[in-house]
Amino acid sequence: MKIYNSLTGRKEEFIPLESDKVKMYACGITVSGEAHIGHAVQAIIFDIIRKYLEKKNYNVIYARNYTDVDDKIIANANKLGVDAMDFAKKNIEKIEKLMQDLKVTSPTMTLKATDNINNIIEFITKLIDKGYAYVAEGGDVYFSVEKDKSYGKLSNRKLKDMISSVRIENEDNKKNALDFALWKSAKPNEIYWNSPWGKGRPGWHIECSAMNFYHLGEQIDIHGGGRDLIFPHHENEIAQTECLTGKPFAKYWVHNGLLKLNGQKMSKSLGNVISIKELLEKYGAEVIRFGILQTNYKNDINITDNLFPEAEKHLLEFYKILMEIKKLNIKTDEVNPQIDEAFNEAMDDDFNTAKALANLFVWFKTMKQKLASNDESVMCDYNAIIKTYSLLGLFTEEPESFIKSREVKQEIPAEIIELAEKRAKARNEKNFALSDELREQITKLGYSIKDEKQGYTLTKI
Ligand SMILES: [Zn+2]
Repeated sequence: MKIYNSLTGRKEEFIPLESDKVKMYACGITVSGEAHIGHAVQAIIFDIIRKYLEKKNYNVIYARNYTDVDDKIIANANKLGVDAMDFAKKNIEKIEKLMQDLKVTSPTMTLKATDNINNIIEFITKLIDKGYAYVAEGGDVYFSVEKDKSYGKLSNRKLKDMISSVRIENEDNKKNALDFALWKSAKPNEIYWNSPWGKGRPGWHIECSAMNFYHLGEQIDIHGGGRDLIFPHHENEIAQTECLTGKPFAKYWVHNGLLKLNGQKMSKSLGNVISIKELLEKYGAEVIRFGILQTNYKNDINITDNLFPEAEKHLLEFYKILMEIKKLNIKTDEVNPQIDEAFNEAMDDDFNTAKALANLFVWFKTMKQKLASNDESVMCDYNAIIKTYSLLGLFTEEPESFIKSREVKQEIPAEIIELAEKRAKARNEKNFALSDELREQITKLGYSIKDEKQGYTLTKI
């Protein structure tokens, strides 16, 4: 199996530090607000990498963190007039639910910065003792980049080039403008923890180094995150950890690409960020996964207006073929081994999900032909597709229910859906008079509405 390693800039054979064990860490979400599609992409990709490694019989320990204290969390909580810790906790609960709906399996360990403050303080103390960090006036603690001779190796930057490109500002009492904060002294009315350097809170980069060190050990196999984290975040993680341990931190650095919306960079400041909630309501987990995984994880994903509708169309076609096969009612547990072999071949090549999905079009074409010629071996293909592709979170639904939910969506006029949505809202607000009135309107227009645990179904009368 080959993995592209950002540290060496090459695709390399994957050989873990210990023969059958893989320690993997991915930088998680800073819980300052609503989770967006970028978070979904990252979580889905590393979930799949983890599951594929497990399929290869590795014993995988996968840790992901939540950054639950930082400037943005504090600022957003203040804006809402709520406690920053409560705000972060509630955001985490919401995100966990969304991840479940996206069919992302929980990591082996979910770590939080605020659960690790003592570990972080101990880690920083060790760096100060070793001479790699210093306490500045006012109680901030900085990492001294000049002390780290290999600083810049992940992002291929040279310290002297970086220094000449940075305007030297001494506002923070740093020795070098590139030195970064390990510990930030508390400003008035900010959440804080006591430390040997006074009241304050950790800087962002240190939490990942400390959590890795105390929960996974000095060295790990795979460190992941979005490509935008390479500099400075991952560069700084390497500096902190390797200066402390004197050993290489992660053997493979795996970075996923970024997101674009119709060719434009997706960012909060441009206001073109799509929330996971919105996307799930519109398409559901499988369509989202299918759309995302058509691009290899390393490349940027361009979310065009057509991406998810097209993905939905393909999945619907596939599910219809599956339903036809299911109706044949052929009893066999046999699987067509070719399907899994081709899948593994694609995934062994740096988790090439694009290839794995492209294969689907070939398999389904063959299945259609087999159906037409009453070839019973089609059931072996069916079994293999369900078994193999569940790793990507696809074909996990019953064909009937997937098809039904899409067809309802396609055939019901927008006007009726609008009324049904209004009614759902009224029910939520316990305005039952309005809800009954809307039901009557819907019935008059020729549709019946049935309430379900999650939402409702509309049927033509
Ligand atoms: Zn990190």
